[in-house]
Amino acid sequence: MLALLVITEVLSLAVLDEALTRTYLKAEIDGMTASMQTEALMLMNQLQKNGFMDDAQDEIGLALVDQVADSWNGRVRIVDRSMKVIRDTFSRDEGKYILADAVLSAMMAGKYTTEYDRDTHSLFFVEPITSQTEEGRIVGAVLVNVGTASMEAPIMSDRLNIHGIETVFVIILILLDVLLLRRFLRPLRTLSTAISKASDGDLSVRVDVRDYRETARISESVNRTLGQLKQLDESRQEFVSNVAHELKTPITSIRVLADSLISMGEAPVELYQEFMADISQEIDRESKIIDELLSLSRLDNNAVVLKVERTNVNEKMELILKRLKPIASTRDIELLFESFRPVMADIDDGKLTLAVTNLVENAIKYNKDGGWVKVTLNADYQYFYIKVADSGVGIPEDAQEHVFERFYRVDKARSRATGGTGLGLSIAKGIVGLHHGEIKVYSKPGEGTTFVVRIPLHYISEEKA
Ligand code: ADP
Repeated sequence: MLALLVITEVLSLAVLDEALTRTYLKAEIDGMTASMQTEALMLMNQLQKNGFMDDAQDEIGLALVDQVADSWNGRVRIVDRSMKVIRDTFSRDEGKYILADAVLSAMMAGKYTTEYDRDTHSLFFVEPITSQTEEGRIVGAVLVNVGTASMEAPIMSDRLNIHGIETVFVIILILLDVLLLRRFLRPLRTLSTAISKASDGDLSVRVDVRDYRETARISESVNRTLGQLKQLDESRQEFVSNVAHELKTPITSIRVLADSLISMGEAPVELYQEFMADISQEIDRESKIIDELLSLSRLDNNAVVLKVERTNVNEKMELILKRLKPIASTRDIELLFESFRPVMADIDDGKLTLAVTNLVENAIKYNKDGGWVKVTLNADYQYFYIKVADSGVGIPEDAQEHVFERFYRVDKARSRATGGTGLGLSIAKGIVGLHHGEIKVYSKPGEGTTFVVRIPLHYISEEKA
């Protein structure tokens, strides 16, 4: 930034400097040309009076021309009407004809020509000579070449002085730039310090740099992100400790069972068998928790891809319910299915089956013996709806918003007794979410619970959306 500022400043100064020098130089040259032209005009009048234009050998005239050329420190040539050089103070061109454009336009149109060449430091001008007796008649022209170096020198030395002043000016500007930039960048530095503290792992850092509107905005979004990260971190820690706890429970039971068998010494075979059956049950439980954790972690993976296929949802539902019917009938629970219309939808068959199975299993588990579970399937032009209603124990109002959380169970003992892990609903919610759908719960304790799943008929993948 500093480099950019300095370059811009130096460049603009240089451009300004060059433009000023040019203007100044031009004014000087114009002034010089004007006074020389006046002098030349006077000289010509004098020469004409003496009849020099007719007889170029006039001694006084020659002396006058030489004198003027000397005073200018230059060369003077005089051409007559036929553009023949009648006098050259350098005596090189006498008798020659000069047919240059400048001379022609002086003779034909009475035009003045001035040419200044800064590189060779020279000035050339042509001035027509008008007759004194016959108005408008051009009788010849004066061609003057002079060096301008001596006139430019003071301007150039002035310029050197100005360069000195400019250098001091630039140094002051750079110092000012440095001070300004430091002041300007200070809030950004504060911001970056705070952010790097957060990236070192301190998520409780709060950033509050309000110097500019932009830094205030950055502070807010950094704080928001940090807040979310902190929440995520806390929920991850809680999840890990929950997992550890859940995995330990069956192992503790197995240990207790095994230890008591060992301490019993000579126990009857039946007791061994009973304890071993319990141990086997606990092992099943452990592996169920692990399976469900694996399903969950697969759902959590952002890169999870649904194997979406156009599926007959009615057939799917009937298959799921047929599989669960035996479990329901062990407790004399009636399992009903009602479909309002045939539904074809883009779904991941395996995943959606898992979600619906979890919901219906819950409806059976948390039901009373002899109760009912009613599953309905319906659709409109955009979505299809699966409703799982039961006549079970219901979910207390304050627990309803938590049932989809991992490991959340309203009644731990009941859930455990029925082989629950507290993960079924969070898996169902994850799957419905992947289908861009929604899941809702309505429940009245003691009366029953209804879960409603709503999923779009047509799946639109994230990339296409
Ligand atoms: P679990 O393995 O314990 O069933 P879920 O995640 O499937 O875990 O359910 C979480 C909790 O929500 C359950 O422990 C239960 O308390 C409650 N719940 C889920 N479904 C029902 C239902 N149909 N009726 C009553 N309570 C339910």
